[in-house]
Amino acid sequence: MSMQGVASPAFSFTPPKRNSLTHIPGDEGWPVIGKTLNVLADPKGFIERNAARYGHVYRTHMFGETSVSLLGPEANELALEDVARILASDSRRLHSLLRDQRLISGIGRAWANEILWVAQLSPYALSTQVDEAECMRLHDAIRSEMERGLELRLAGANDEKTYRVHNKLDRPCERCGTPIARVDFEEHTIFYCPQCQTEGRVLKDRRLSRLLK
Ligand SMILES: [Zn+2]
Repeated sequence: MSMQGVASPAFSFTPPKRNSLTHIPGDEGWPVIGKTLNVLADPKGFIERNAARYGHVYRTHMFGETSVSLLGPEANELALEDVARILASDSRRLHSLLRDQRLISGIGRAWANEILWVAQLSPYALSTQVDEAECMRLHDAIRSEMERGLELRLAGANDEKTYRVHNKLDRPCERCGTPIARVDFEEHTIFYCPQCQTEGRVLKDRRLSRLLK
């Protein structure tokens, strides 16, 4: 399926907490409320003004969190042309790779969970072992989750409504009904469906601090 000619929506993501994102141009507005009121008053105008001022990738602050917005063809092209190249560039676990701001800007741990669940891929799958069909699913999932995330945020949806696997331990998977599982990896907690994503296997804790105890 060709993605060319698809309208260019704006995307917004919550970055990992430890990443200050100060290298990305942008304006976070007032303390605490940030740009929330501007967004609520005129979402389209807000996006257009920011794009005119900062270009297609910019940092902002709304709904209590600093986020990165990706606008226009750059965001589509990233997903379309670069996913395969990014996967091939380094042999890494998918969850870790998706969160790497140097490779893909703006996907935090929550969205990495959501994207991998949609793509039905294991968070521990190695990037270099992802086949063509899986790469396509990942690419589609990044796009669809980016769009879904922005729509829900603009509509004022909270985390509970926005996420389908993140922080949903033991809730039934929306696709197959299997209870959502959780595993610690590096400094993050991963949520996943053991049926849809890991062929029934339960992932083992790989957090370094646990190994050192
Ligand atoms: Zn499932």
